[in-house]
Amino acid sequence: MSSQSDFLPPDVQNFLLAEMEGDNMDNLNFFKDEPTLNDLNYSNILNGSIVANDDSKMVHLIFPGVQTSVPSNDEYDGPYEFEVDVHPTVAKNSWVYSTTLNKVYMTMGSPFPVDFRVSHRPPNPLFIRSTPVYSAPQFAQECVYRCLNHEFSHKESDGDLKEHIRPHIIRCANQYAAYLGDKSKNERLSVVIPFGIPQTGTESVREIFEFVCKNSCPSPGMNRRAVEIIFTLEDNQGTIYGRKTLNVRICSCPKRDKEKDEKDNTANTNLPHGKKRKMEKPSKKPMQTQAENDTKEFTLTIPLVGRHNEQNVLKYCHDLMAGEILRNIGNGTEGPYKIALNKINTLIRESSE
Ligand SMILES: [Zn+2]
Repeated sequence: MSSQSDFLPPDVQNFLLAEMEGDNMDNLNFFKDEPTLNDLNYSNILNGSIVANDDSKMVHLIFPGVQTSVPSNDEYDGPYEFEVDVHPTVAKNSWVYSTTLNKVYMTMGSPFPVDFRVSHRPPNPLFIRSTPVYSAPQFAQECVYRCLNHEFSHKESDGDLKEHIRPHIIRCANQYAAYLGDKSKNERLSVVIPFGIPQTGTESVREIFEFVCKNSCPSPGMNRRAVEIIFTLEDNQGTIYGRKTLNVRICSCPKRDKEKDEKDNTANTNLPHGKKRKMEKPSKKPMQTQAENDTKEFTLTIPLVGRHNEQNVLKYCHDLMAGEILRNIGNGTEGPYKIALNKINTLIRESSE
């Protein structure tokens, strides 16, 4: 019997098949009859397709559990070099991606593809968890739920959608998606999918997501608060092996909002002199591995009008280099940034004389 599947690594499939053929289900380290996990039935995965199975023996792969703490949003490649790729904008798509803001703008209900990749795999199965969180630190503690209008819309309640899925703002088209977290217990909601193996000819696994509320939806919805999605690579114990974040805005005019945000972002980097600037997170590389050893020095000649503008740009350069020094101080590559910072300091002195 062939056990090729697009969904599970071959070793996991073989293990499942061996255990089923051995008929020693009671000894399995699987749990049974766990309806909240979206009725996963892995015994159906054969031959790369899903076969209906009336067998009363349901075998469930153990998924990582509900998240209890506020999830971190620090990016982490981890031992398997976890990568998440969002596709560049293609005309006529209902979503656009801003590289500078690592942010995707989309309309509600648009299918949104995300590619996941690792350099190699451990023998045990891996999962990808997608957790929406509020970006602003003051709201990070709060769980992201849907607004009541959408949660209880006719469309949802008339369909066969399970009740525990309705409060989730993220849906994944993966048929094994498990929707974790109980809103009635104020638990954080996340969607967990098994990390499948890439199809022949590709290195990554594509999953299609969809957002079913807008940022502008009223409380207890997002209520105009910014959100980001944290993708974590986990094993079935919930141990994290990689983490990537993606800012998301679900709105009516993705293109317009992207342009506005990018313009605001540029303006924010030129705050008036003397005004205290909130320490910005280093702009995250958009889901791609950062270029290693990018320590070539560039000297720019930029025409600018106004002394204050010159000082602002210098201040920005100063902060950029100071940030790089902090980030690189442990790996011994901070030298070139220090040299550049000294030169910038000299320019700042000269400019204020
Ligand atoms: Zn809503």
